[in-house]
Amino acid sequence: MKIGIIGGGASGMAAAITALSEGAAVTVYEKNDRIGKKILATGNGKCNLSNTALTCGCYRSEEPQYLAPILKQVTVPDTLAFFHRLGLMTKDKNGCLYPECEQASAVLDVLRFALSRLGAVVKTGAVVTRLEADGGRFLVHTKKDNGHSAEVFDKIILACGSKAGLSQESSENGLKLAASFGLACVPFTPALVQLRCKEPFMKALAGVRAQASVSLTAGGVEYSEIGELQLTDYGISGIPVFQLSRYAAKALHKGEKQLSVSINFLPQLSCQEWKKELLMRKKLLAGESAEQFFTGTIHKKAAAVILKECGIPFTQRMDTLPEEKLLAAGRMFQRFPLTVTAANPFINAQVCAGGVRLSEVTEKLEAKKQKGMYLTGELLDADGRCGGYNLQWAWTTGIIAGHAAAKA
Ligand SMILES: Cc1cc2nc3c(=O)[nH]c(=O)nc-3n(C[C@H](O)[C@H](O)[C@H](O)COP(=O)(O)OP(=O)(O)OC[C@H]3O[C@@H](n4cnc5c(N)ncnc54)[C@H](O)[C@@H]3O)c2cc1C
Repeated sequence: MKIGIIGGGASGMAAAITALSEGAAVTVYEKNDRIGKKILATGNGKCNLSNTALTCGCYRSEEPQYLAPILKQVTVPDTLAFFHRLGLMTKDKNGCLYPECEQASAVLDVLRFALSRLGAVVKTGAVVTRLEADGGRFLVHTKKDNGHSAEVFDKIILACGSKAGLSQESSENGLKLAASFGLACVPFTPALVQLRCKEPFMKALAGVRAQASVSLTAGGVEYSEIGELQLTDYGISGIPVFQLSRYAAKALHKGEKQLSVSINFLPQLSCQEWKKELLMRKKLLAGESAEQFFTGTIHKKAAAVILKECGIPFTQRMDTLPEEKLLAAGRMFQRFPLTVTAANPFINAQVCAGGVRLSEVTEKLEAKKQKGMYLTGELLDADGRCGGYNLQWAWTTGIIAGHAAAKA
């Protein structure tokens, strides 16, 4: 069995190792000058390769009903066993799984070593430009060093990833190749990415980090996440924003011009508890200025912007501030409004929402419209939350496709 794998990323390498282990002859085509480059950037260079808390709810898709049958075939323990067989020791940090040495390069290295040990043919700098089905076999056309060539395979695995981490101009190769076989796709939109806001005061908030709850309204639905929020001179970032970003990017892509976000800088307090605290402070700190009054509550820069937006001068003595004005400012601490006008571009995104519709593939990830062609990883319409779920999707789908292609 001769298998051609288009894309030497996480899912392509997992597929290749699985198929080679089952006796297939495998050629991996990778357009970059080396395979698995993206893995080096994952988890801030530490590679958060999976998560013990994985459930189907950690993934989003236009067709979520197809996720469970796929995810149950290669579980997190199965994946750890796969890596253990390659020599990688792993560690658990609050459910997030990393290589023991916390070096993403170790993950890439064990994959590379296995490919070489098992006899994979790896063609780097080789861009697959076209795929043709030819009497039950596949013709793979590649461009390398200004030369063109074509090779025949029994099976093909499309593991081209998405546009995440790439500049806008990069072609959507994977989707184009899939679409040339009539497979229906959801357009890629950035996910796990920063959001841009229109408020002119963002510059004054740059550098603020706060444990906050962030609520986004997109497509008429409110989504909320809690975690470390980061404010930048152009908008909002940090884990809770990343988790929400795919909904924002999709709504903007569908034509919504702006989306409202509300930040709660004091998510640990109920409205009543915060009101009580404010009124107690008003008694305790009656002679202080507004600036001093709010010192010791939330980040100084955020408090300063709220006071300014509420028209309360820093120097105003608190005993001269009417209670309703104090409470109105107080409400802003828990419902600070922002307006999102854009998501950052693909180059800044960790993953993409969208891809080939899951209904286009069987549980074994074979294209229903093209026997012998399998699809893996981010090329499929499934995007995971932050926390190792996207790589787990790449390993799971790669292993399923590699196994199915070799056996078929
Ligand atoms: C900065 C960053 C940090 C991340 N951190 C994490 C993390 O800690 N944990 C986590 O779970 N996920 C993380 N991710 C996401 C994770 O890296 C991806 O979900 C995963 O790599 C997807 O695997 P894939 O095989 O589908 O695609 P990729 O890994 O992108 O591989 C696709 C490969 O196909 C090649 N290719 C595409 N088209 C062609 C063509 N026509 N011809 C030849 N080759 C082609 C590409 O060059 C690429 O190498 C991160 C992503 C980024 C950008």
